[in-house]
Amino acid sequence: MRKLADTCRRKGKTIGLVPTMGALHDGHLSLIRKSAKQNDFTIVSIFVNPTQFGPDEDFGKYPKAFKSDCDEAQTAGADMIFHPSVDGIYPDGFQTFVDPGPIADKLEGAARPGHLRGVATVCVKLFSICKPHRAYFGQKDAQQLAMIKSVTRDLNLDLKIVGCPIVRTKTGIAMSSRHSYLAESGLKKAVTIYDSLKHAKRLVKAGETDIAAIRAEMTGLIKTATGAKVEYISFNSWASLDEVNLISGKVLISLVVIINTVRLLDNIIIHSKH
Ligand code: AMP
Repeated sequence: MRKLADTCRRKGKTIGLVPTMGALHDGHLSLIRKSAKQNDFTIVSIFVNPTQFGPDEDFGKYPKAFKSDCDEAQTAGADMIFHPSVDGIYPDGFQTFVDPGPIADKLEGAARPGHLRGVATVCVKLFSICKPHRAYFGQKDAQQLAMIKSVTRDLNLDLKIVGCPIVRTKTGIAMSSRHSYLAESGLKKAVTIYDSLKHAKRLVKAGETDIAAIRAEMTGLIKTATGAKVEYISFNSWASLDEVNLISGKVLISLVVIINTVRLLDNIIIHSKH
């Protein structure tokens, strides 16, 4: 992989990297298309990274579709699929991790301790192996995007992180590889998640700045779906992720809702003039 990246660079070609865990959907494909548009050579990595999963999480049963992933990635503009083994990335004696700092302790970091440290570590390794000029990340995982930007800046990594908008199903659900865990009935319930985010945006537009009031309305809306449990609804300034008490400036509203034991993550960034 390194030799190929070096050859690309020697020839003056720009490299785009799209890190994924596979089971590709339209969200991933939008990142690949963007990279193919902006770079001469697009690498899609497919690697289910063990260090970003907790001991009781779904590492062992994470959905896999390698053959169709390759076809779809290629159609979207990928020039190469990088599919390393776990031993290749974490050989015996591996001991170095990237600590992203406090940005990784809140939100998903609080719910899944060590998760973002694992993401940061594998991303820095992928950057070092694939040598991209640009790497593409979805706003679907907004904290991950903010964290990678912060790590890249703090460690003077020589690439640009490109954030890409959330791709949704026709009914508004943020696409996710984990949707294969949800039955049709679960997917129907999940529609209330984006409804609640759109409702929050409307409230802010109408002048509401009180977070408790917005959270209460969002929770009420989500609970109309039987069995849907709100794990958190959080308001953080974008992109520092500092918690905010009032809506002002660019605010990330992010939430996790549990439907049929599946954690569904979604968010919206609102721009308030207050
Ligand atoms: P994953 O395979 O889940 O690790 O995701 C790989 C990349 O695709 C990450 O940068 C995600 O944020 C991004 N991604 C996942 N789902 C979506 C989506 N619905 N819209 C846009 N990007 C996404």
